[in-house]
Amino acid sequence: VNSTVKPDISRERSAELYEKSKTYFPGGVNSPVRAFKSVHGTPLFIQKGDGCFIWDADGNQFIDFCASWGPLILGHNNSAVREKVIEAMQNGMSFGAPTALENQLAELILKNNKYIRKLRFTSSGTEAVMSAVRLARGYTKRDKIIKFEGCYHGHLDSLLVKAGSGLVTFGETSSAGIPKSFADETIVVPLNNIQAVEEAFEQFSDQIAAVIIEPVPANNGLLLQTQEFLEFLRRICTKNKSLLIFDEVISGFRVGFEGAAGYYNIYPDIITYGKIIGGGLPVGMYGASEEIMGMISPDGPVYQAGTLSGNPVAMAAGIAQLTELSKSNFYKDLNNKTFEFTESIQRYATAKNYKFKVFTIGSIFWFAFTDRESISNADEIDASSMEKFKIMHRELLNRGVYLGPSGYEVGFVSSTHSKIELEKAKRAIFESLDIVFRGSRA
Ligand code: PLP
Repeated sequence: VNSTVKPDISRERSAELYEKSKTYFPGGVNSPVRAFKSVHGTPLFIQKGDGCFIWDADGNQFIDFCASWGPLILGHNNSAVREKVIEAMQNGMSFGAPTALENQLAELILKNNKYIRKLRFTSSGTEAVMSAVRLARGYTKRDKIIKFEGCYHGHLDSLLVKAGSGLVTFGETSSAGIPKSFADETIVVPLNNIQAVEEAFEQFSDQIAAVIIEPVPANNGLLLQTQEFLEFLRRICTKNKSLLIFDEVISGFRVGFEGAAGYYNIYPDIITYGKIIGGGLPVGMYGASEEIMGMISPDGPVYQAGTLSGNPVAMAAGIAQLTELSKSNFYKDLNNKTFEFTESIQRYATAKNYKFKVFTIGSIFWFAFTDRESISNADEIDASSMEKFKIMHRELLNRGVYLGPSGYEVGFVSSTHSKIELEKAKRAIFESLDIVFRGSRA
């Protein structure tokens, strides 16, 4: 009776656009997860966004928790960001020469982040990570990298590597087109497993340039690590003269202005950022101490460059967005709001005895169909539970709630999700859970 299902929802225009896009792009998309391969239906083509809402090409409105996969912490079409971008555009789009805007964004970051002293802007998270890995190798004069199963660091060759069988493995490539010899330089170990990391260092200590981790692993579910494990990584890297790289492309400016480094108060050697830093435009960044960054060209021998790096329009978006984030209580309010939202979903599921957990940190959440109290490594995810996510995703779309189209993806709350919208979303989530677990169609 009280169903939040939207009647007569049409996806015709999206379907037409998808038929066309398939003739232009592999899978009809310009980045694979957009293709809805892991859920029911076909991609919605988005027409516009405003605040916490998006509208598809058929005019359907959704409360959006994908947030362009994280960047839009102020919601869509934020007026401060938009105005600053327009102002910058009026002076031209790109010069390939320095601008004051780059200084401004760097200053805003460095003044509010004690974990890095110098930085360089790139145009994507992948580029930032690729550069950080090269920097670590150049600085240590070593080749091997330790990464963790279940962490995603962008699509660079050396990190598109998954674990083989066994505790410490040379990675197997997880994409065609990557030479085996590249994957051989990458050692893959399970998350939250001290013994595995110790074993890797025992075998290869003087060859390991760096350990790279998403300190808040958020690309394979939300695999929260213990403070103890992250501190252990810091210690073992220091002991072996390897560098610790925090890939904070998601967690940076998300779990707090200083990201996960600040959240856990751990000093990595290199940090990468992306997503939020560009306010929705393409910006990535890596930073470290003066000494380590001194290795980067033209000061040092590690080459890294970019025609559009530090692009003035993208810098302007970043300046506007980070200025909002640096205001007092921004994160406190956002995180509290998210916690209330996720807690009440959890209460509902628990009261109904549903095998369902909401894991959360800051304004990130993950819906997991599990009865485990915590999940901290990829092996603990039950792949068959993704069938349940598929149903949930379909039912949520029918009720005007948009989540990223895969059960392995996390959701993001923005400052524009008001109590009213979060209440609406909650009702839709409750109904969808009822359908997943009881098959009762509202
Ligand atoms: N690192 C992490 C932790 C990410 O989540 C991502 C993207 O999702 C990347 C790197 C790659 O960033 P981009 O997609 O901007 O290349």
